[in-house]
Parts: sequence; structure tokens; C-alpha cells
Amino acid sequence: MLIKALTLVEAFFIPFVHCRTMQKHQITIAIDGYSSSGKSTLAKDLAKALDYSYLDSGAMYRAVTLYFQQHSVDITNPHAVSEALENIEIIIPPARESFEIFLNGMDVSELIRSLEVSQLVSEVAAISPVRRYLVYQQQQAGKDGGIVMDGRDIGTVVFPNAELKIFVDSDIETRVLRRFQEIQLKSSAVTKDEVRANLKHRDHIDSTREDSPLQIADGARILNNTSMSRQEQLEEVLLWVKALIEEQ
Ligand code: C5P
Repeated sequence: MLIKALTLVEAFFIPFVHCRTMQKHQITIAIDGYSSSGKSTLAKDLAKALDYSYLDSGAMYRAVTLYFQQHSVDITNPHAVSEALENIEIIIPPARESFEIFLNGMDVSELIRSLEVSQLVSEVAAISPVRRYLVYQQQQAGKDGGIVMDGRDIGTVVFPNAELKIFVDSDIETRVLRRFQEIQLKSSAVTKDEVRANLKHRDHIDSTREDSPLQIADGARILNNTSMSRQEQLEEVLLWVKALIEEQ
């Protein structure tokens, strides 16, 4: 309530100072949800407001997918997949709000967002050895808390004991529009229909795969942001964080 009455700038900085001074330890925030539901935007904004680290786990699945595409790895061949994983090094420099990802020394932050990668990533992410390889790295990155991580299995598998778990949802047309506008900024020639088809395809595979399907984690809070602005969703979640920290 207090935060809602503040100006935009105050809403960012007062919770940050408040949380840092009141916290006994820095919490873990696990954010899951459908494709293009605004998870990453929320995660970045929270990390900035709380001075936490931010990790976009989807970018790691995208980097592995890019490697598989660049090296024509047959994803139906378990031996080829294991061998390829041994040759992959993913580095994510610690950051609060910006996000960069390096694949074997090369900055692939932009390349991994292409439609080609989006079209294969969910098939790659359904492969158990790929998940084991990345989940371990995600758990290492967040073992000391003070992190906001977003993905599809963060509250269910990666950090089932996270102090705050959030499941983000918004209606499909809102998600299509957001993703379409984001792609258009990079002047890529992709139609809305292609974006819609890709989101539906990924949501379907992500929710129905055998290993770590996208589900609402036990104890997760649901945030439907269809009619919320970026600032409104941040303010809402900062209220949850504040209440949690005061309980500690
Ligand atoms: O978050 P983003 O949409 O970039 O993720 C790309 C894909 O990576 C998802 O559609 C999903 O298939 C996979 N993913 C996953 N588990 C995560 C994060 C992403 O399976 N924790």
C-alpha cells in the first residue's frame, strides 16, 4: 500500500534500500510462466530494485539450441547430444538488469533470440541430459540467494525451496503483441501469425514434456499481468517481497 502511493522513481529505490537494510539474508525469487508473459522483464526489474543478480534460464536453453544448430547436432541421437554438451561452455557475466550470454567465448545475446532458435528450443529443452546440464549450472549460480531467476521449472525443480515463487500469466493475444513488437524493434520480417504459432507450439511442448513440465509450483503466487503495466507488476511483486522480508 505504501509503495502504491509513491512516485515511480521512489517505488524503485525505496523498496531497494528498505529490503537491503531489513533482510536477514537475501532471498531467492523463482519466476515461471508461459512464453512472452513478461517474466524476464519482471525478473530484471526486481533484480534492479532489490540489487539482486538476475538470470534468464531460457537464454541458456537458447544458447545450447544455437550450438546444436550451428554444429548440426542430431537431437534424436543421445550420444551426439552428450558429446555436444561436453563441448559447450556458457558464461553469463553477473549483472543486475542487463543480460549478456557467451557461448564458447562468443557473445550470442542477440543471436539466440532469432525465430530459428525459438522454433527448436523447446524440443532441445525437453531432452533430459540438456536439462540436467543446465539445471546444475543454474543451481550453482543461485546457491547463495540474492537472485531472481526466470524460466519454466525454476520454482518446481531448480529452486523448489525459493522463498518467493511466482507464476506469471497473461492472455495469448497480449503475449503475441508484446513478442511481435519486441521482434519488430530489431526489424526482423516475422508476422504476427508466425509469432502466435511459435508461442503456442512452445507452450504446448513446455507444458506436456515428461521431464520438468511447466507447472504452477507448490506455494507459487499467480500474477496475471494482462492488464498491468510494467511498473504496476513490479510494484505488486515488491509488496510481496516486502511482506516476506518483514516476516523473516
Ligand atoms: O524464456 P524463453 O522463452 O527464452 O525460453 C525459451 C525456451 O527454453 C522455452 O520455450 C522452454 O522450452 C525452454 N526453457 C525451459 N526451462 C527453463 C527456461 C526455458 O525448458 N527453465
